[in-house]
Amino acid sequence: MSPGKRGLIIAIDGVAGSGKSTTAKLVAQRLGYMHMDTGAMYRAVALKMLRCGVEVTDSEKIDDLLRNTTVTQKESDSQPRIVLDGADVTDEIRTPEISLWVGPVSENPLVRQHLVRWQRELGKDGGVVLEGRDIGTVVFPDADLKVYMVADLKARAKRRRKEMLAKGLDQSQAEVEASLAARDERDSTREHSPLRKADDAIVVDTTNLTIGDQVERVVELARKIAPTAIRT
Ligand code: C5P
Repeated sequence: MSPGKRGLIIAIDGVAGSGKSTTAKLVAQRLGYMHMDTGAMYRAVALKMLRCGVEVTDSEKIDDLLRNTTVTQKESDSQPRIVLDGADVTDEIRTPEISLWVGPVSENPLVRQHLVRWQRELGKDGGVVLEGRDIGTVVFPDADLKVYMVADLKARAKRRRKEMLAKGLDQSQAEVEASLAARDERDSTREHSPLRKADDAIVVDTTNLTIGDQVERVVELARKIAPTAIRT
């Protein structure tokens, strides 16, 4: 950890539904760090573009829209609340419609440019756990700890389905599997900042891990890097 920083920069990347968000949130709580869900930021921008009728090909309008957009995060006991231009959009950004639309939106280099700038600005002083697809490769290539999370598709779909059911969204196991697989394919093959493991990232396979195990694994890795700063 460089001197002057508030703590480590921990990057957690990986496939959809691998447990990044829950792990990042709990690791941040354990360490007293900030948690940044960058996928939620892409989703919030996708929601705004949809509401404003801005096409993914219209660079001029996208630039204008993003210059007049704020996406922030409010901590809460359960899920962090995502605030778009002052309004809580946490539930609206998790619908199947936004899950589909966020793919093309996040492929746009201008969108990525703005979001990467916001993320670097928010995380530069450290003491932060960022989760997404390109944190260890693009946003913070010098992160102190890089974790790459994977899990079997079936296990991921089962977890995601349970989360969606709790919010009253009922999709079959096959539908959720197809949607996760399509998103992974799209995220891994896109031209700009595709999802890939950074060479120095540590792979954590969560298929047979409990949430507690996942959190412990990451905290243990962080402790190895900063044993005096992290005693928890
Ligand atoms: O993490 P979550 O599944 O909510 O992310 C939604 C989408 O946002 C991803 O499928 C991906 O297309 C995009 N994303 C991205 N880069 C990130 C985080 C998310 O392109 N750092």
